[in-house]
Amino acid sequence: MPDAIHTIAFYPGSFDPLTNGHLNIIQRALRVFDQVVVAMAQNMNKRAMFTLEERQALVKACFDDEPRVSVVIFDGLMVEAARAHHATAVLRGLRGVADFETEFQMATMNNVLAPSLETVFMMTEKSHFFVSSHLVREVASLGGDISPLVPEPVNQALRERIARK
Ligand code: ADP
Repeated sequence: MPDAIHTIAFYPGSFDPLTNGHLNIIQRALRVFDQVVVAMAQNMNKRAMFTLEERQALVKACFDDEPRVSVVIFDGLMVEAARAHHATAVLRGLRGVADFETEFQMATMNNVLAPSLETVFMMTEKSHFFVSSHLVREVASLGGDISPLVPEPVNQALRERIARK
């Protein structure tokens, strides 16, 4: 393959926190793309458990030996940020019909804004079908063991956060 062909997936989301579901999507995307840029939106409305910097550090900790994964924070329109990072595609994960509706709407809107930027969907692996950051936060806050659902650095960070409360 010529050097000039370099594929970059831009993977936007909240990642509050990174779960094994996200991790699995990133690992599988590395088989399809040369690079994956994990992108955290600064202007999200949701109330976050971890700050952007904490979330960024957690993703970095999980991929410290993988130079093809980078983590960025972006503000404003996602398609503009994707363009600025030379993305060849936007990457999103799908868990089921519940995700499909909103993802379809978002991808269609993004296609209007940036027709040359393709959105690529990856189906979740069945073991991560029920895993969401929201549920992980909720179960962890109630004292449940979420270690099978998140990478170890995230598990530790969640335990520390909850112990402090
Ligand atoms: P957002 O707030 O944009 O939904 P999330 O951090 O919740 O951001 O998710 C980012 C992306 O990862 C979304 O495309 C979401 O569908 C996907 N995703 C989240 N959890 C999983 C999972 N368990 N399996 C596959 N994809 C997932």
